[in-house]
Amino acid sequence: MKNNNNNFGFALFCLLVLSYPLQLWAASNEVQSIRIWPSPENTRVVFDLAAEPAHNSFALDNPDRFVIDLRQHKAQARLPGTDGEADLITSIRSSYTASNQTLRIVLDLSSKASANVFSLPPTGPYGHRLVVDFKGEQRELPVAQARAQRQPGRDIIIAIDAGHGGEDPGSIGPSGTFEKNLVLPISRRLAELINNEPGMKAVLVRTGDYFVHLNRRTDIARELQADLLVSIHADAFTSPQPRGAAVWVLSLRRATSEVGRMLEQKERHSELLGGVGDVIRDSTQERYLAQTVLDLSMNHSMVSAHQAATHVLTELGQITRLHRREPQAASLAVLRSPDIPSILVEVGFISNPQEEQQLRTAQHQQRLAQSMFQGLRRHFRASPPADSLFAQQRTREYRVQRGDSLSIVAQRHNVSVDALRQHNQLNGDTIRIGQVLRIPD
Ligand SMILES: [Zn+2]
Repeated sequence: MKNNNNNFGFALFCLLVLSYPLQLWAASNEVQSIRIWPSPENTRVVFDLAAEPAHNSFALDNPDRFVIDLRQHKAQARLPGTDGEADLITSIRSSYTASNQTLRIVLDLSSKASANVFSLPPTGPYGHRLVVDFKGEQRELPVAQARAQRQPGRDIIIAIDAGHGGEDPGSIGPSGTFEKNLVLPISRRLAELINNEPGMKAVLVRTGDYFVHLNRRTDIARELQADLLVSIHADAFTSPQPRGAAVWVLSLRRATSEVGRMLEQKERHSELLGGVGDVIRDSTQERYLAQTVLDLSMNHSMVSAHQAATHVLTELGQITRLHRREPQAASLAVLRSPDIPSILVEVGFISNPQEEQQLRTAQHQQRLAQSMFQGLRRHFRASPPADSLFAQQRTREYRVQRGDSLSIVAQRHNVSVDALRQHNQLNGDTIRIGQVLRIPD
């Protein structure tokens, strides 16, 4: 590397000399494709470009429009076709001014909307992009419903977060499978199983192919007052060998394993891919984290998450290979809700060719969902929230001793004789030694 230092200075000099006149005539940019990602909370329009954009934008009303000027642009008679659609965007048109090499793109809108415009560098499957995020109404969450149910016998609420989405494909398998496209159907299957279980309710954080900011993912879980946030991902590594599922919980320190460090890095990468322009990067996460370190409830959340993770791992271990037998710890933003126990399940390695194929099958996706569901149910059966239906249903057992009578057992457990009779389908008062009685909570 030593020799390169001198060369580097010279190369830089050449680059500067050469690039100056280049700027004058290099109207090199071109819109290659346009993608629209509607989501419940915003509409994102992505322009795939040949080069980094020089742009400015403004809104007009009467009728409502949004205008983007792309400078240093090639003459482009017509825009490429649009992939996807959204109610907000009624049409996209363009005009070109040769004198200043500017392509003007006009988005006709069905209603007034403000937008956040930023460019993204090439990453993953995409090249240079210009992203226009129209803010919509905040998604109507079934919060009121969830809150109304906050009475004895309520459902246990589980927020299921399918990782990545939209502009962020997640990891990409050797035969081209996108992680975002695997974790959504698995999440949907898990939600369905949970919703079929009396006393449990699932809400999907991401319901389609669009990106949800990491902070927003935890915010949604918080708004739902979820009892648990389960984030679902597929792992990837630099070599094809690693395989198997793993479950992650929050560590306030940096991860110690190599896979863990990669995961932390991938999450930051995901934000970059998903398009967190500096403009919209907010301090929510830092705020919660700062608050968290002092907050004792974090301990409770972390312990609870660890227990849930252990149950899920045990069940996953019945149907798939495990990459790690114990819950792993990493410092991941999506796990960092101080008040909501959160786990991250890596259902397998998409970078392993066999697992990539297996993960694509409906049968394996269902098996994964089923075992995660079993694990979660087992966890909440073992430690239900005090006001939940699961808590009400929880029964202790008592083996009848010599000298016991029904009224003595009832008195000892602080329940009525009637409740005991009802719970054990007893008609009279007769009980026998060794008989197991179920004691209502
Ligand atoms: Zn992922």
